[in-house]
Amino acid sequence: VVAALLLSSCSSRKEQADLIVHNAVVYTVDSSLSTAQSFAVKDGKFIAIGSDKEILGSYESKEMIDAGGKAVYPGFIDSHCHFYGYGKGLQELDLVGTKSFAEVLEKIKSYAREHPDGWIIGRGWDQNDWKVKEYPDKTILDSLFPTTPVLLERIDGHAALINEEAFKRAGIDAFTKVEGGKIEYFPWSAHDIKGNSMDARIASGIVIDNAVDLVKRVIPQPSKEQLKEALLAAQKNCFAVGLTTVDDAGLEKHIVDEMDALQKSGELKMRIYAMLTDNEENKAYYLKKGPYKSDRLNVRSFKFYADGALGSRGACLLKPYSDKPEQQGFLLSPLSHFDSAAVSMLYKGFQMNTHCIGDSAVQAICDIYQQRINERLMLESQIPSKLQTRWRIEHFQVTTPFDIQLLKMQRGHIIPSVQPTHATSDMYWAKDRLGPERVKYAYAYNDLLKAAGMLALGTDFPVENINPLYTFYAAVARKDLKGFPEGGFQMENALSRENTLKGMTIWGAYANFEEKEKGSIEKGKFADFVILDEDIMKCAIDKVPQVKVVYTFVNGEKVYEKN
Ligand SMILES: [Zn+2]
Repeated sequence: VVAALLLSSCSSRKEQADLIVHNAVVYTVDSSLSTAQSFAVKDGKFIAIGSDKEILGSYESKEMIDAGGKAVYPGFIDSHCHFYGYGKGLQELDLVGTKSFAEVLEKIKSYAREHPDGWIIGRGWDQNDWKVKEYPDKTILDSLFPTTPVLLERIDGHAALINEEAFKRAGIDAFTKVEGGKIEYFPWSAHDIKGNSMDARIASGIVIDNAVDLVKRVIPQPSKEQLKEALLAAQKNCFAVGLTTVDDAGLEKHIVDEMDALQKSGELKMRIYAMLTDNEENKAYYLKKGPYKSDRLNVRSFKFYADGALGSRGACLLKPYSDKPEQQGFLLSPLSHFDSAAVSMLYKGFQMNTHCIGDSAVQAICDIYQQRINERLMLESQIPSKLQTRWRIEHFQVTTPFDIQLLKMQRGHIIPSVQPTHATSDMYWAKDRLGPERVKYAYAYNDLLKAAGMLALGTDFPVENINPLYTFYAAVARKDLKGFPEGGFQMENALSRENTLKGMTIWGAYANFEEKEKGSIEKGKFADFVILDEDIMKCAIDKVPQVKVVYTFVNGEKVYEKN
């Protein structure tokens, strides 16, 4: 009996795990940023982290990965992207990188030959990349497509070129008034801007912000099958670059429902933090029902738009644009809209995430956040630690000393959510828009970090590339993929590698109220991790954009393997 007991205790000395990763450099991103060599995974969670000796001495598993000394990181989180929109875009006409409007037209013509039915929808043109840096107009589109509606969104999604047929279907013309939006017209067609005679006004085809939505509203909804295809295509590409959680910034209820269903059926393995679009359907449903949470889906925030984008001069500035003094941008809704939203978000337990690019928008929204948060704190002065708003300012692009001060005071309550590749995409023309003084306070990530104590990092894809390693490179080197500018753009606002890694993992998790379940490689957390072919914490910084993902794991399951 003694011998049998000894034998059995001997053979069961090691605990069974589902997976062991060893011989690695594991960046745990725990509170002391420690590294380890090895970890064990069971039931989708990390169960032990330590040296090879410790882990291999205590655990055994049929599945072993010898990382060959490669670096392992917590799965990357994109704190602001448009996951579904990106997937849908994969089914549409891709106009990113076009060098002229003529090239856009060529692409549309060949797309139309392959897709003879329905709308022609494209996205990604940017007149700043063209020789003629003016907005195009619809004249040629009308002659090519007199009966087919065409909608071509600008890269930032805040402006679009549409043809006459699209105007007709949307029931709008040059005279339609759009709050928080604009319909541009040919300057020669307006007799007098004071309003004497505007009868000859003709729309040029460019529509801005809320006017784009008026058109989008009449585009037929995608079928369930198209929706699923879009989500699965987006997931495939995102796993290949090491993303394991995406914060989708603006979703309709039926898309959230489809995500939930596909996650439950096991087809959609990506973890999703859903920001709900600010619309009546979402408010009616979710403010009544409250937040929703599963292991892979977290629905507890709303996305608001305070203003537009800097590229299309829709960003709301405190002083006029330096390259167009008659324009200053505008808020997309009256302040009372954001203020009453803040009240319902606060008392229904939702996070408020507001897109703010211009310094005027940033200031207005920070002000509302501060007022409403302080009010609530006063109400709950007995238990102030219970209130964790973690409300976000999305983009936080143009700052002022006033906002920085406010952020400091609201530490833990307001989190800047920024996209480092925006800095390196916009740097070519941001100075024109803002002038040499103001631009110094734009894309000021390190200033924001020092004030707020943390940053959530993302890409805003498909506005930018989906690759989080481009984010890492842009944040640390402040250069674009051409290696420009040599010394980096406004380097006083570069981030350290450590802070960048935290912004892509643990701070991203915190901004999602998920720091207890993800964002680091620690016991009890979801086994979401990536193995890279180079160590981004140590390799030459200019090599980072070429670094490749070897494996991506979600919940202890391999979801991507190189080749
Ligand atoms: Zn966005």
